[in-house]
Amino acid sequence: MNYEDTVRYDRQHVWHPCSQEKDYELQPPIPVARGEGVYLIDKAGRRYIDGVSSWWVNLFGHNHPRLNRTLKNQVDRISHHIFAGFTHEPAVELARRLSALTPGNLSRVFFADNGSAAVEVALKMSFQYWQQSGRSEKIRFVSLSDAYHGETVGALSVGGCDLYRKVYQPMLLETYQARGPDCYRCPYGLHRDSCDAPCFETLEKLVQEHRDEVAAVIIEPLIQCAAGMRIYPPVYLRKLRVLCDVCQVHYIADEIAVGFGRTGTLFANEQAGVAPDLLCLSKGITGGYLPLSVTLAGEEIYQAFYDDYQSLKAFLHSHSYTGNPLACALAVEVLNIFEDEKILQQLPARMGLLDRYADRFEALPQVGEFRRCGLVAAVEMVADRSRRTPYPWQQRRGYKVYKKALERGALLRPLGNVVYFMPPLTIPEPVLEELLETALQAVKEVTAC
Ligand code: PMP
Repeated sequence: MNYEDTVRYDRQHVWHPCSQEKDYELQPPIPVARGEGVYLIDKAGRRYIDGVSSWWVNLFGHNHPRLNRTLKNQVDRISHHIFAGFTHEPAVELARRLSALTPGNLSRVFFADNGSAAVEVALKMSFQYWQQSGRSEKIRFVSLSDAYHGETVGALSVGGCDLYRKVYQPMLLETYQARGPDCYRCPYGLHRDSCDAPCFETLEKLVQEHRDEVAAVIIEPLIQCAAGMRIYPPVYLRKLRVLCDVCQVHYIADEIAVGFGRTGTLFANEQAGVAPDLLCLSKGITGGYLPLSVTLAGEEIYQAFYDDYQSLKAFLHSHSYTGNPLACALAVEVLNIFEDEKILQQLPARMGLLDRYADRFEALPQVGEFRRCGLVAAVEMVADRSRRTPYPWQQRRGYKVYKKALERGALLRPLGNVVYFMPPLTIPEPVLEELLETALQAVKEVTAC
């Protein structure tokens, strides 16, 4: 199929994610022919720097020789088999390695095939744990405003982004929502680098008040990504760990987006020195090759389900592709690459480059903040910088930057008035610089009028 036919048939039959399909009338989808390192290459041979790791999944670039080899080797053995009653080496090896690498003593690994499913699993595990531990009144979940945990009904119920959930509100679970940290518009007038997170108080009060009926608090550690890459300090997580212990509530960490090196450490919770009770991982876990997710639990939770069959305490959640061997083999290789190629040790140089651009972005009159955590950075455009007034969302400033950057060969995704960078961890410094320059120009033009 040539370029034009691919687009034409796409428009006749395909319904894309997270898109108003009508937008494609003016900005048709780009048919990708192949990938090469940090570049996506379309059917006309045009190259785009994948500045968002293809929705935060790619870690080491596209068409990676080691990951390709791993996948091919595994295909020649077996691509998939039932995971109930059977097991395989890549899953066992992955579970063993993740248990050792993640914070705390998360010794048990449950497999699923996407981030939302990992969240559903964590919510159900927490819920069922309390049912089977003599605390059947603990049936509610607490989450933060503007949180994002996925789009399935349970995951959406603990989400806080109106854009994704408002229309579905009547069909969602009843949950409690606390105001989340918003460091750019800090109500206390503090800075995230030096504060003690007094904003934690709202979550603290809510959990204390409802502790008897709350099963778990779920949050995205260090960065509320879909909220506009809202970055907040580790002290918030330390306070949450204490609160959950005191109130006997599970702490569910959703590291689906921030796990696997994005924040500068392998897992974000490491920066706070705390361990969650349940940990959800996905996205980067296979280096961006195949869908896979895991929910890790500690021994105490696991043991609440372990009994004779007749007790009916088993966790009966299942997905057809649970523990897919291709995905697990890739995930093991991803961990090998982290180790062999000293990926985390190489991040500081690239992070330094992001720092150097902070002043240049913030010199633009309509840029309110350039924030960064690890290799994730975000530019927030504002109508009035002194008042931190957002542009009206209808103006779609972020989307306009996206379009301008595409014209210049860079893929940047908008989140409202925020444009962010979440490139593959191995992006060469000159390419990262090119990406930043392109974004700078695009932001300048879009905010000029
Ligand atoms: N949690 C977080 C923090 C996410 O960023 C996402 C995806 N953007 C999800 C959950 C859902 O993952 P998936 O899209 O694989 O269902």
